[in-house]
Amino acid sequence: MYIKKYILEEVRKDFESIEMAKRLWIYGYSNLGRNAFNKLHSIWPEKTQGIIVTENGKRSLRSNKSIIEIEKADISNSVIVIATNPLFHSDIIHMLKEKHENYSVYIYDEVLDDWLNDKLKQIPLLETKFLSVCVGQACNYKCKDCANFAPFAKRENLRYEIDAIKKDLKNIMPYFSIIDTLHIQGGEPFVYSDLSMLIEYIGGGVW
Ligand code: SF4
Repeated sequence: MYIKKYILEEVRKDFESIEMAKRLWIYGYSNLGRNAFNKLHSIWPEKTQGIIVTENGKRSLRSNKSIIEIEKADISNSVIVIATNPLFHSDIIHMLKEKHENYSVYIYDEVLDDWLNDKLKQIPLLETKFLSVCVGQACNYKCKDCANFAPFAKRENLRYEIDAIKKDLKNIMPYFSIIDTLHIQGGEPFVYSDLSMLIEYIGGGVW
């Protein structure tokens, strides 16, 4: 594989500055980038800022609140973890170098992933009395004093897709040792067409 020389000069190998960084950014909005974001955010929720994108990635802005245009991101004194196809590393590093300064660059590779996985294992598991899973705001009633504002819900909030809910559960469950009560709520969960599938999934304890 052809890698320009400046990659070797720019990319950090020690992980100390990730620990010390005030801000962490991820470059790359594909599954790899989202995976890196989820792991970093789970370990350092306060300092993991988001996924930065340039022109090509702007179409993904609407679908993910963690994605931020590079022009709007304060990347000075930050660590940037590049999580893309290796073919693009060279150009990304070059682009960053031209426009920004005072940052450190890491590549999200197997070594960094293993290091993050070890960090994740060190996070103490949580105990909670209550966890609520919201399936959407659709309801067959229109109570004036609805605490969920169900009668005024926007169309996109009426129903959350089962696959998205399952994915959220799968992501969050490993961090709990005890959940006393898991509550499925809406709106009205009994108008949710995939309710039985969701209950089966939760009951199956597939995480
Ligand atoms: S969610 Fe509950 S309070 Fe709100 S409209 Fe439906 S039944 Fe009424």
